[in-house]
Amino acid sequence: MSDVLKVLIDEFGTSAVVGANLLRERATSYWDSTPTRAKCLVRPGSTDELARVMRICHGHDQTVVVQGGKTGIVQGAVATAADVIVSLERMDRVESVDTSDGIAVVQAGAVLQSVQEHVADLGFLFPVDFGARGSCTIGGAVATNAGGINVLRYGMMRNVVLGLEAVLADGTVISSMNQMLKNNTGYDLKQLFIGSEGTLGIVTRVVVRLFPMPVSRDTAMFACESLAAVTRQLSLLKANLAGTLSAFEVMWESFYASVTGEGGPAAPLERGYPYYVIAEAEGADPAADAERFQRLLEEGMEGGDIVDAILPKSEAERRSLWNVREEFDLALPAYLYDVSLPIRHMETYVSRLEERLRAWRDDAECEVFGHIADGNLHIFVKPYDNGAHHETSDGIVYGCLDGLDGSISAEHGIGIDKRPWLGLSRSADELKLMRELKQLLDPQNLLNPGKVIN
Ligand SMILES: Cc1cc2nc3c(=O)[nH]c(=O)nc-3n(C[C@H](O)[C@H](O)[C@H](O)COP(=O)(O)OP(=O)(O)OC[C@H]3O[C@@H](n4cnc5c(N)ncnc54)[C@H](O)[C@@H]3O)c2cc1C
Repeated sequence: MSDVLKVLIDEFGTSAVVGANLLRERATSYWDSTPTRAKCLVRPGSTDELARVMRICHGHDQTVVVQGGKTGIVQGAVATAADVIVSLERMDRVESVDTSDGIAVVQAGAVLQSVQEHVADLGFLFPVDFGARGSCTIGGAVATNAGGINVLRYGMMRNVVLGLEAVLADGTVISSMNQMLKNNTGYDLKQLFIGSEGTLGIVTRVVVRLFPMPVSRDTAMFACESLAAVTRQLSLLKANLAGTLSAFEVMWESFYASVTGEGGPAAPLERGYPYYVIAEAEGADPAADAERFQRLLEEGMEGGDIVDAILPKSEAERRSLWNVREEFDLALPAYLYDVSLPIRHMETYVSRLEERLRAWRDDAECEVFGHIADGNLHIFVKPYDNGAHHETSDGIVYGCLDGLDGSISAEHGIGIDKRPWLGLSRSADELKLMRELKQLLDPQNLLNPGKVIN
């Protein structure tokens, strides 16, 4: 038994320290069912316990990988056999909700959906939402600055975090649990940890903003013949819904056909249109909101931008529309991408990508969908061939962004997968400053080594 493992077990007992053998029963991640590898996994029950874990690891020059729900897409939470894993699965409570200020204090191991449900019972909305809601944690969402389907209206995780507490590599606890919207007292330290993917500190508790639970919700799926028509409809809805448009998800035909194939959710609209959109608005006046939403869709139909549409009549029907967008298992395996670029360049980008994929090999294809109002496209590139052509595929997808003002990662982060490509989206000076920050906070390179930057 290694020294550090013995000290951790002596200090915290076998219920808080899961050994390498038992760990093999846990999958590496949502995406990889091979057994987890690590020296051990430690499950602290409090910030103080985590600080002690980190002091021990620091004293033993022991590398540490923090894991949340392991749903991240860029291998940011993957450990090696030489690492100690920290999991905050025992720190999973909503500690308090302040209904007058509209804030909640949440432990980082809390599952996103459980936080959403907890505050919904009190009449509040926690707006960051995406398909992994039942497994991912608040800490993971902070560490990746997660986005999802409501960014258009509420912003990304960064926009709803008021304060946080984090433990550094040497066990120092940085408590920055600000509860106010306004607090300009020097550097905003929480921002260092949001989006840093577990490389600068381990987030333990978070102060999040809540919003009044909307009373009305209007949803539609519609089809368009061109991206220009999709964009016009987006502008129309944005301009006329007075800030209540909360989602505007677009699926290219290739993606729609793939996920509604045999074994997938039924296709709500017939296949064959070039673009499908799910739009959703949330407001406070059910009758007036529904009337305005439907009128704008009718306007789109009369003007020819919308060629087919469906409005769900129940929550079950609404859910089945969203399932088309969120249940994409049928489209896998594929290389997954998450790029951002201005809407005006999207058509050029996708046709450039299709062309270069075909030039690479006859059977190469892409399926595209995404949060286009946020300038965010997700792309599946096939065939997957057991990952044999990952680098070539990456080169094509990222190479096509050249000259289009885009980014290689919109919301998934860098992790291991995108690290070699980070220089396409960040200047040499930016990378140097990132390395200096890492050096300052974790000079021994113990926290999530090898992720984001070298
Ligand atoms: C079906 C599906 C749909 C998805 N849709 C979206 C989407 O629409 N938008 C989006 O942004 N993402 C999406 N994701 C990606 C993923 O769910 C998010 O990145 C999520 O925020 C990761 O949370 P997690 O708890 O699973 O973190 P993990 O995967 O466990 O970890 C992710 C990273 O955060 C670090 N980390 C975890 N916890 C902490 C902590 N407490 N302190 C510091 N670092 C920590 C890890 O080291 C790792 O680098 C989706 C994933 C799936 C499977």
